[in-house]
Amino acid sequence: MNRLLLSSIVTAAALLFTSASALAGTGGTDPDKPPPSGEQSGGTGYGAPLVTLPGKPRLSAQKLSSSTVKAGSRAGLVLRITRPKGTSAQVKIAIARKGGKTINFSPGRITTNRSQLIRLPALAAGSYRVTVSVFGATATEVARGGAMELTVKPKSTSKPKPTTPAPPAPTSGVFPVRGAYSLGGAGARFGAGRTGHTHEGQDIVGNSGLAIVAPLAGEVRYVAYQASGAGRYIILRANNGWDMMFAHCQYASAAVKAGERVNAGQQLCLLGSTGDSSGPHLHFEIWPDGWRDSPGTRPVDPLAQLKKWAAK
Ligand SMILES: [Zn+2]
Repeated sequence: MNRLLLSSIVTAAALLFTSASALAGTGGTDPDKPPPSGEQSGGTGYGAPLVTLPGKPRLSAQKLSSSTVKAGSRAGLVLRITRPKGTSAQVKIAIARKGGKTINFSPGRITTNRSQLIRLPALAAGSYRVTVSVFGATATEVARGGAMELTVKPKSTSKPKPTTPAPPAPTSGVFPVRGAYSLGGAGARFGAGRTGHTHEGQDIVGNSGLAIVAPLAGEVRYVAYQASGAGRYIILRANNGWDMMFAHCQYASAAVKAGERVNAGQQLCLLGSTGDSSGPHLHFEIWPDGWRDSPGTRPVDPLAQLKKWAAK
């Protein structure tokens, strides 16, 4: 009460010493009308106390029409601002994207003492926190609501195409083919077109019977056969977690068994042309998150890694 009394005294004192032009700016029936441009707003003894006298606007209700909308459509926000005097209030809405920028949206003055529907701007997919601020005559915030969670879902419901992850940084190791080899042309590259799929590895062309060795130390996961594709193949899990595939090995050339631990440089099999192969070569793949362990795991382009091993 003392503060209110003091504020009234200060206001009265300020009015006595306020110039005629300032009075013109602060007078009138609408206490929220901003002072004319060039006027100081909210100075000591001016502005703030005058604004509080007719009754501060209060945020009495706030609710998103829906907590989830699709990207491109506009979320609805129902606001009710109560104020004993005055018929409108200035509102600003902060729409903060989690891990991103905040959009400051101003619907302008809204009518007080009844529920109003405000359409928020269309937003990109993401998670947002929506906060409503109510302002008095000056830039002084007089009320703020709690943050409301808003989720904007991607417009398309179709599954995103699996994207090829970036290969991990090349690590030192041993080139998987011992002897003269070629990395071939465009058709031998990772991502090259194949009937019904794309090439998931790098072909390394060499003479039949060259030793294929483990580039990194690890454990053999599978020694297997796929007549229509990889032929005789071996999957090695390296100690760093990568899976590597060695395909088209010669029949009966496997020098290791599933579950066996191998050192870098240790022979796995011999280069051949088994399965769907048009000539002797090693088909080599790297799967940093495991070979076909889940639908989400993908192979990476192993070329940079092979070149690093070759440079040794
Ligand atoms: Zn291949």
